[in-house]
Amino acid sequence: MIVPHVNPDGDAIGSSLALFHFFKKTNSVDIIAPSSFPEFLKWMPSSDSVLDYKKHKNDVVSKIDNADLIIIADHNAANRSGDLETIIDKSSAKKLMIDHHPEPTYSVDYTISCINVSSTSELVYNFVDEIEPEAFTKDIASSIYVGIMTDTGNFMHNVHSDTFEIVSKLISYKIDRDLIYNSVFNNYSLDRMRLLGFALNEKMFLYKDLNIAIVSLDEQELIRFNYKKGDTEGFVNMPLAIENINSSILIMQRDDEIKLSFRSKGNIAINKIAKAHFNGGGHKNAAGGIEKELGFAETLEKLKTVLYQNKQILLEK
Ligand code: 5GP
Ligand code: MN
Repeated sequence: MIVPHVNPDGDAIGSSLALFHFFKKTNSVDIIAPSSFPEFLKWMPSSDSVLDYKKHKNDVVSKIDNADLIIIADHNAANRSGDLETIIDKSSAKKLMIDHHPEPTYSVDYTISCINVSSTSELVYNFVDEIEPEAFTKDIASSIYVGIMTDTGNFMHNVHSDTFEIVSKLISYKIDRDLIYNSVFNNYSLDRMRLLGFALNEKMFLYKDLNIAIVSLDEQELIRFNYKKGDTEGFVNMPLAIENINSSILIMQRDDEIKLSFRSKGNIAINKIAKAHFNGGGHKNAAGGIEKELGFAETLEKLKTVLYQNKQILLEK
């Protein structure tokens, strides 16, 4: 059983699918996602075999009960397994965590945890390479490539020399890089493009004394642009292209909670704010959080208060 984090992204699905392709030759294996994943990943080989727990509850419970090994992919805290947290906790299966986020807290039997890599997918590359290097296939290589490409913003951040060496090996498996790039980054709906225009034009506010931008999208605004999961992927990075803007936050309604995405440059540890005030965490320069108690307007107010209280983090050189 392979479990990516709730609201899986390219690295969570990429690393899970790579492991799935690797294990399926010799084992019975399933990927169970705590919630659905974005459309822009649905072209990936075998992505249709990813089970959404929310749609297959009974099926999933018996699969987890019968599992010998549960692989926790691309997360390191039990609450990031979403509604699967208690089911996994009760299971007698051995647990292996493969993850690249700081400060792991998940209680598991085996841990592969390393933060000096681009992505969990890069760790999966090393895992397969260590166990059975001849097992690499084009599908495994493509899945890993998607994880590295998406988590590094198309090779822009968190890339190390090892990352490029691995990518060079992935390319040797004849992966179709143009197809992968176009499927992920050139496949947006018109609604998504219009929503981006609206967000940047009318919903982006700069707090110049904090060198920060906040983009907010409430429920009505999302409905107006026929919002679908994944549509706001990448929005939070855009304000960082403005001169003197060193941090950026996207705040949006998601189902019955409010989702916050945090990005920063250099020494600004924006994950500290996500962790201390918004039940979240992540990497120093890319973190996320949620607010379940307050409404949208109150959360926006809380956010501004918290940001001014943490001025020293935001103004770090
Ligand atoms: P994003 O803003 O793209 O959703 O997430 C950015 C980074 O923060 C990712 O590495 C992701 O794993 C992490 N992250 C996002 N949301 C949460 C959250 O609610 N809790 C924690 N601990 N990490 C999160
Ligand atoms: Mn992820």
